[in-house]
Amino acid sequence: MRAYVSVDLEGMPFIASIEHLYTRGSLYSEARRIMTKVTLWVAEALHREGFDEVFIADSHGPMVNIEVENLPDYVYIIRGYPRPTSMVIGIEGASAALFLGYHAKAGSARATFDHTFASSVIDYIEVNGVLASEFLINAYVAGHFNVPVILVAGDQKLLEDDVARYAPWVERVPLKSSYSRFASISPSLEKIRKDLEEAVKRAVEKFKRGEARILKASYPVEVKIKFLGTEMADTAELLPIVKRIDGKTIVYKANDIIEAYKILELLVLAAARTAQFLRTE
Ligand SMILES: [Zn+2]
Repeated sequence: MRAYVSVDLEGMPFIASIEHLYTRGSLYSEARRIMTKVTLWVAEALHREGFDEVFIADSHGPMVNIEVENLPDYVYIIRGYPRPTSMVIGIEGASAALFLGYHAKAGSARATFDHTFASSVIDYIEVNGVLASEFLINAYVAGHFNVPVILVAGDQKLLEDDVARYAPWVERVPLKSSYSRFASISPSLEKIRKDLEEAVKRAVEKFKRGEARILKASYPVEVKIKFLGTEMADTAELLPIVKRIDGKTIVYKANDIIEAYKILELLVLAAARTAQFLRTE
């Protein structure tokens, strides 16, 4: 039985400064140590609950954050970017999925590093008419492969917002509660370890009782993206399936969430490059 764990950084405990988020940031080594610890506690708990393989998708920034020198033999690490269906690549074939260090969607009030995929590019994303977080889109990918999401740990705002609303069966573990985009309170790592171990146990029990549901998007999928700049929408609409709605907003339809995700990634990469081009050349 395989578990799949997608790990982001902004929703991890104590991550409060921009310096935590970039590989050259002055607090980055602290951030990756915390991310590694939290992830391994969950992997160990899953192994104790009967999962003989734990796939871990390092899913923040360049996606090479988790320290890999001392991993148990049942752990596999997915590293590096770009990759198709970015934060949830390789989820097919897993029995259950867990998301760690997840954060609230772009535009959320008082939520650390609120964003959706790319804070330098995206104002908001709607999927089938609903404002979507990374959690929701990644859970739809899991659902496409009939994998239930059983636990989400991260910013309290995300947990009470998208997770409670769209996936009430999911075990929710708050790792931080935010005062602002750059300030939050977290319990000690000791308490977090206990909370995570207990929550993994409850999540796996629910899963074994068949109470973990599959979250599915309806198909075809309509994706609307509002960019932060008109030049980004100028680039996005070069793709024939993309329709321009207004200066900064585009919409497209895809056959399923996998196709929708791949197009989203392409548009984000194109928009980011367009913005960079204008700044530096
Ligand atoms: Zn991230």
